Amino acid sequence: MPRKLAAGNWKMHGLARDLSELDRLAADHSVPGCDVVVCPPATLLGPAAARLEGTAIALGGQDCHFAASGAHTGDISAGMLRDAGARHVILGHSERRADHGEDDATIAAKMAAAHAAGLIAILCLGETEAERDAGATIEVVGKQLAAGLDADADADNTVIAYEPVWAIGTGRTPTEAQIAEVHGFLRSTLTGRLGDAGEAVRLLYGGSVKPANAAEIFAITDVDGALVGGASLKAADFSAIIAALEAA
Ligand code: PEP
Repeated sequence: MPRKLAAGNWKMHGLARDLSELDRLAADHSVPGCDVVVCPPATLLGPAAARLEGTAIALGGQDCHFAASGAHTGDISAGMLRDAGARHVILGHSERRADHGEDDATIAAKMAAAHAAGLIAILCLGETEAERDAGATIEVVGKQLAAGLDADADADNTVIAYEPVWAIGTGRTPTEAQIAEVHGFLRSTLTGRLGDAGEAVRLLYGGSVKPANAAEIFAITDVDGALVGGASLKAADFSAIIAALEAA
């Protein structure tokens, strides 16, 4: 059984004053029964790393460039994330795919860059509502998974987050059966590709996870944790979700 993981994605939220949320999180989970990572905006990584030093809460970036360095104004490399104190990076989030036109090939290159820099990559995938309505969910996530995994991907350096696009930030969640179907498919695809190591890859569910629905979601087979957006911004909510994961 892989160690469970609760990952918080602050997206484009957070100023220096919001770092106090991390203090409460670290105090509530000094010896967490699962891995916990917070992915603040890049501007806060350095100060957050200083604040979390000596705690059990890890840090992650929300994206990285696929190049190690170069003339890419505004971008951040995987090595820079690591240098700032991150140990994880979210890649292929649907907001990056939509807002920045990221395709599977770009995401695969970023995965390789993250792994080369020693980061744990959290690869996001998921269908739009139109794709689900068209019965294409498994085909879509299967293609995103196959294309996104780089040659170095293994259970230690890769986490998969299933995030139906229509569930992100909407308050809507798939049924338990829908989550179980996709996670079961991802698990069997991963074991087909990685052998036994595929059993140890953490499969997160993401999309409107809240304290009120967390326990139900964590009880689903092959759900090894969550990628949490809005509810990770307040320590009280994220802490309750982490507690539900610890109890699962
Ligand atoms: C996300 O951004 O990855 C996410 C799951 O957001 P939310 O929890 O707000 O739906």
